[in-house]
Amino acid sequence: MTTPFQAPASNYLAPFDGSFQIGNFPRRDDASPDKGEARERLDAARERIIDAQRRLFAQDTWSVLLVFQAMDAAGKDSTIRRVLSGVNPAGCKVSSFKKPSTKELGHDFLWRHACALPSRGQIGVFNRSHYEEVLVVRVHPKILGYQKLPFQTDLADIWPQRLESIVEHERHLARNGTAILKFFLNVSREEQRERFLARLETPHKRWKFEPGDVRERAHWDAYQRAYDEAIRETSKPWAPWYAIPADSKPAMRCHVAEIVADALDSLELRYPQTGASDQAVHDELHQALLAEE
Ligand code: ATP
Ligand code: MG
Repeated sequence: MTTPFQAPASNYLAPFDGSFQIGNFPRRDDASPDKGEARERLDAARERIIDAQRRLFAQDTWSVLLVFQAMDAAGKDSTIRRVLSGVNPAGCKVSSFKKPSTKELGHDFLWRHACALPSRGQIGVFNRSHYEEVLVVRVHPKILGYQKLPFQTDLADIWPQRLESIVEHERHLARNGTAILKFFLNVSREEQRERFLARLETPHKRWKFEPGDVRERAHWDAYQRAYDEAIRETSKPWAPWYAIPADSKPAMRCHVAEIVADALDSLELRYPQTGASDQAVHDELHQALLAEE
């Protein structure tokens, strides 16, 4: 594939050779910037994103897809809000994927995600994504029973098959002009506990508390295994995964923003050039406007 899209280099980039291991990636990194520096760097990266998005929109050729996956309370919502604030809302759409509806269950598992893909010139953000199909569904295989599959596939086969479908789907998107970045916000079990406690103990955070989230914690290890394999099998040069330390929110947002800004830079986005014939028309109309009055 000859494309200028470059997966930005980062300590948190999941390797493409199938050697990713979740345990090798930090949840809190001492090398990360402190709160003050992280905020400054976030602001600088955001300015770059805002500027690049204008050119992305004007050029109208590339699409950009940002995928966010994480355990509950890792900070997906606030990261999306902070990294993309200031971006023209006309050029950016966030899709949050919850339990599939009856209509969505009437289709294959990639369908609803394909429907939400960004068109050319747009940034699409997936808050949860097609990866839930090899995460929550893998941890709770009874969910497969609702998916109306016409034949039984051995559970040992279904996850490698789904991972292969995802790799091929993303390769197809990349070949056709979608720049894909995937972020796993890597929060620790202890930090998740602290955040759940804060939701229970702080009145204005209580609305965020979901009893089911605490019950899902019991499956922590199964989720970690599912993330481990999903990231290992699907981190590719055309759709890289980044496992971002998530125990410090300011550092996490800074790392995400810088990776997004670097990726947009690699696309070499340009405002469309006017041709010689356009120029002649523009000159004529310019003169006509000046001559009014
Ligand atoms: P927040 O809690 O911050 O609002 P969230 O992403 O956790 O955000 P919820 O409505 O709490 O949103 O949860 C969505 C739920 O839908 C998650 O438990 C997720 O695992 C589940 N889900 C997403 N995709 C699927 C799927 N394909 N099949 C089954 N469950 C899914
Ligand atoms: Mg939730």
